[in-house]
Amino acid sequence: MVSLKNVNKHFGALHVLQDINLEVTKGEVVVVIGPSGSGKSTLCRAINRLETIDDGEILIDGNKLPAEGKALAKLRADVGMVFQSFNLFAHKSILENVTLGPIKVKGMKQSEAKELAMSLLERVGVANQSQKLPAQLSGGQQQRVAIARALAMRPKVMLFDEPTSALDPEMINEVLDTMVQLAKEGMTMIVVTHEMGFARKAADRVIFMADGKIVEQATPEEFFTNPKSDRAKDFLGKIL
Ligand code: ATP
Ligand code: MG
Repeated sequence: MVSLKNVNKHFGALHVLQDINLEVTKGEVVVVIGPSGSGKSTLCRAINRLETIDDGEILIDGNKLPAEGKALAKLRADVGMVFQSFNLFAHKSILENVTLGPIKVKGMKQSEAKELAMSLLERVGVANQSQKLPAQLSGGQQQRVAIARALAMRPKVMLFDEPTSALDPEMINEVLDTMVQLAKEGMTMIVVTHEMGFARKAADRVIFMADGKIVEQATPEEFFTNPKSDRAKDFLGKIL
């Protein structure tokens, strides 16, 4: 579903992605973990083409990442992304936040988009907030709206970049529960998170990144109980 082949990326002298090879199959949930600055966000952004790459290849469902135009907009619709900061449109209602993409990008009828949006808001448990503005919701609620907004484009894969790290502790679980549910429903997911509980519950595979490289990958069970590399041992020692 998502395939990265020998992907390299530099920021000036910094080799931020170094020969990344990664195959994520349909329905698979991959958790990406690693120290700050290791390239996790850059990896996510490259998959959604918010960043260009220097060389290598990224395929989504067998299709090469288009550079621009309509094809890129379509690719972006196939790859949903949820960020640490919820990035909702501040001056639009919750409902409009979710209907905008389907109407603008997919040409969906207003009534149809509204029906879809309400069913997704229902699914993430915030349907009763649909007429409010983002600022009137809690962080956890806003993040669930952001998930609904991404799902409204009917993506083939969902990318999450530290979706709970800006949330107060009591709101983390409501977002993680939504993500676990999505994983159970068979969504293909790439999730940057240090939430071990989520990884153990939902991940098929944990990827450990350091210094722009995939250093290690294993099942969550294997990775958390028996990390192989010194980098991973050191990292887990700090966060566990
Ligand atoms: P964190 O856990 O802190 O979110 P990360 O693993 O997501 O870290 P990235 O955000 O991918 O790391 O950044 C990797 C490296 O690339 C860092 O050293 C960062 O400073 C650098 N970097 C990221 N974006 C840019 C940019 N637009 N221009 C220059 N350097 C950048
Ligand atoms: Mg990051």
